[in-house]
Amino acid sequence: MRCGAAQREDERCRTRYRRREIGEEGQRRLSQARVAIVGCGALGSVQAELLSRAGVGFLRLIDRDYIEWSNLQRQSLYDEKDAGESLPKAAAAAAHLRAINSSIEIEQAIADLTPATVDDLLGDVDLIMDGTDNFETRYLINDFALCHNLPWIYGAAVGSYGLKMPIIPGKTCCLRCLASQPPAGAQETCETAGVLGPVTATIAALQAADALMILTGHADQLSLRLTVVDVWAGDIMQTDQPQPNPECPACGRREFTYLTGKRRPPIGLCGRNAVQIYDRERHLDLKELAGRLQSLGTVKVNEFALRAQIENFDITVFPDGRAILKGTTDVGVARSLYAKYIGN
Ligand SMILES: [Zn+2]
Repeated sequence: MRCGAAQREDERCRTRYRRREIGEEGQRRLSQARVAIVGCGALGSVQAELLSRAGVGFLRLIDRDYIEWSNLQRQSLYDEKDAGESLPKAAAAAAHLRAINSSIEIEQAIADLTPATVDDLLGDVDLIMDGTDNFETRYLINDFALCHNLPWIYGAAVGSYGLKMPIIPGKTCCLRCLASQPPAGAQETCETAGVLGPVTATIAALQAADALMILTGHADQLSLRLTVVDVWAGDIMQTDQPQPNPECPACGRREFTYLTGKRRPPIGLCGRNAVQIYDRERHLDLKELAGRLQSLGTVKVNEFALRAQIENFDITVFPDGRAILKGTTDVGVARSLYAKYIGN
């Protein structure tokens, strides 16, 4: 005979999660599932909210970036207070999600997914959600997922257009079967084309649905197709995935070049005129750095990041030595700013 409090807790749980498609067994599986969300921008923040409300037991939120006012147009988990304080997305998302569902575990990782960090960040999860904005990171996820036999849900959006596809090692093709190299030349980005909130919300919701099917044990019923949506044209298109390509460098030949890459060069970020420099060896005392930069411009600092406006640049520095230098796309300029203000 269970005590009254336990019965009430069980009843609350049943009421909260009553869904025909998932059922009690599915809900139990969800409560034990571990998911990493890579990128907590427009796609990742919506995925995170849906999965936490669904009762996924453990979520790791991975993001290296901070919240800006321009994010609020589509990143529905964040508010003006978060943007005003320039909070890291992973930390702000975790705080909002804990208020939404206190019965699950939410871990924030204010970090960049690189070959050096991928084992720690993705090594102990059952499924990976793609909320990233660049091919480099997606190929790294693809390599890691193939290597460790983990399902992941690819998704991308720009302008009014987006796509999603579930990738299950051994069952479906992989991202490099679809596109063996990153797109060449100038591409439309969130910076040049912008991106509509309704399309990122749609793609993220479709990704979350795929994740719920896999995690509740219904992967065999999953639609293994590439879904393409254009919310402005009003088009939704589904095409069969290509067959896995035996010559694919990743799933065919199992050459995990993105996983074994030594160190990633600085990359321009989607959505802004900026270069990121990542220096893993360096541990910074942000308060001390703030003191040094104080006379050069406007400096704000909290435990997660330092933000300085100096000359025409907006410089954000993290405790692990990583910096985002906004106001240039020139790697050389960014490196010299880093050397000038943070150190060689
Ligand atoms: Zn492949």
